[in-house]
Amino acid sequence: MRLSQMLLVTLREDPAEAEIPSHKLLVRAGYIRRIGSGVYAYLPLMWRVLQKVSQIVREEMNAAGAQECLLPQLQPSDLWKESGRWDTYTKAEGIMFSLIDRQERELGLGPTHEEVITAIAREMIRSYRQLPQNLYQIQTKFRDEIRPRFGLMRGREFIMKDAYSFDADEAAMKATYQKMNQAYHNILRRCGLKFRAVDADSGAIGGSGSQEFMVLADAGEDEILYTDDGKYAANVEKAASIPSDVVPSPFGSYEKRETPGTETIEKVCKFLNCSPTNLVKNVLYQAVFDSGTTALVLVQIRGDQDVNEVKLQNELVKLAGQYGGKTIVGLTVPDADAQQKWVAKPLPLGYISPGLSDDYIQSSKNIAPKFIRLADQTVAELQNFVTGADEAGYHVVGANWGAQFPKPNLVDVRKATVGDLALHDPTQTLKTARGIEIGHIFQLGTKYSKPLGATYTNEQGEEIPLAMGCYGVGVSRLAQSAVEQSYDKDGIIWSVAIAPYHAVVVIPNVNDADQVAAAEKLYAELNQAGIETLLDDRNERAGVKFKDSELIGIPYRVVTGKSLKDGNVEVVKRATKDTQNVAITDVVSTLKQWITEATI
Ligand code: ATP
Ligand code: MG
Repeated sequence: MRLSQMLLVTLREDPAEAEIPSHKLLVRAGYIRRIGSGVYAYLPLMWRVLQKVSQIVREEMNAAGAQECLLPQLQPSDLWKESGRWDTYTKAEGIMFSLIDRQERELGLGPTHEEVITAIAREMIRSYRQLPQNLYQIQTKFRDEIRPRFGLMRGREFIMKDAYSFDADEAAMKATYQKMNQAYHNILRRCGLKFRAVDADSGAIGGSGSQEFMVLADAGEDEILYTDDGKYAANVEKAASIPSDVVPSPFGSYEKRETPGTETIEKVCKFLNCSPTNLVKNVLYQAVFDSGTTALVLVQIRGDQDVNEVKLQNELVKLAGQYGGKTIVGLTVPDADAQQKWVAKPLPLGYISPGLSDDYIQSSKNIAPKFIRLADQTVAELQNFVTGADEAGYHVVGANWGAQFPKPNLVDVRKATVGDLALHDPTQTLKTARGIEIGHIFQLGTKYSKPLGATYTNEQGEEIPLAMGCYGVGVSRLAQSAVEQSYDKDGIIWSVAIAPYHAVVVIPNVNDADQVAAAEKLYAELNQAGIETLLDDRNERAGVKFKDSELIGIPYRVVTGKSLKDGNVEVVKRATKDTQNVAITDVVSTLKQWITEATI
């Protein structure tokens, strides 16, 4: 491609809309343009990158035995009603764009395709002889994200590869999952990314085990906890660890103490001269179920620990049935305004005890009359603990479960943090890193096949639900995260495998016939040799061209400049700025070798 003919507009200034480096660079270098909130045009350079990423994904999927297909983006609501996700996706989370067609039929724009693929499997897979099956597609997905941001990182329209596997049983499903896990490792390695595979929460997709693939970058929205021995890595949403030891309680007997002005853990510990590990902290949440019912949740946790809201949400979803729903649509710490809607009398905030009376709730049609009381495991072993007295300015000390407070309902809702000891080996401490989730693989089991009735007949003639897995890669997010991980003050540094072009031949002065002739010849030869090459034949100053080539991030720059008279051109590696003179006759073979080495 000749730059003189390409629709390329580069910007010297950072666009106001962009917060993180990769977003700024992709806009400045002419890869993407914003069309609306979370909606971007992939310009020609970007489209080439996306096709390269897609091709790597495709090759690895094919090697893992998956078959490419293309599923509809317009999905009938009926299918989503069968799986029970229509209301969650359109109303509760509201992530699915939905519409009504001219015949008054309800449709959703595909945010993911479990329902569609399971309906196909239900009709097409009959016998164990057809198993296993694994289908994938690379396609635009639609999600009405609450906070679209960071360019392609969180779009409302983005490209995803999604695969769905069908196996005879759990063991076979796990074997397929392992194959896909390996394929994901291969994809990320080939794209030249530094990444970690981590244990993950399965979220709204559901199922048992799941892993996320995190590209390591400071701008990542996710926190990863890991150990240096390489044996443990998890998203903080999922991470488990051993909390630090409890300091023995200094209180021998139960009494109520006046503790004025101690509404924080720090203050009360200072006042009572005890450790935060001696405290039972009571955190109040407000949960809204999809049935419309709001329940107040009182969580007990050890004073030095914090609640992991994803784990808490998972516990509350298990209780949804009791509140006439299937899931949770909101979980917040109620502020003064929110409290107004249900408090019967002023709450003793900062001094709440595990036994806080249900009388504080003014129940109504949509407000459950009793607190949901859940206690994190960390409070189970506490003896002679300190907690609130349900009266402003007072705490109780020397309290015990089974004495002053009934035995708690224990769950794991504790947030693991950096510095905690690892469960697999307590000599290892958890370290922290930031990551961008670019892929997520799930062992679904029968979560969709059961409700949709996707079964097969086994050798014994029994009808058995298919064991499923699903596997997503954010193709467009991956492409941007590669930039987030690899740039310098002058622009993007693409790895050779996913760069839009391998090389750019720059003519410093288009009025110099020798320069032009040499460049044209090289441009033709390089492309002929399969080296994807741009020709910067614009009538611009050499400085402008060099700046643009660095901003765009093409791995190799060939300059037909001063050294032409000696039969040489200057070749510059973008990543290192390493410059060397190469004989014109050797340019093709040299670049060929570099490219091969860089894409093994
Ligand atoms: P997130 O937690 O970031 O919202 P998710 O858990 O909703 O992601 P999945 O449903 O597992 O994501 O989708 C598979 C992959 O699609 C993700 O790993 C991610 O790379 C990509 N992806 C998801 N949402 C978006 C989005 N809004 N924009 C771009 N890529 C996305
Ligand atoms: Mg999401």
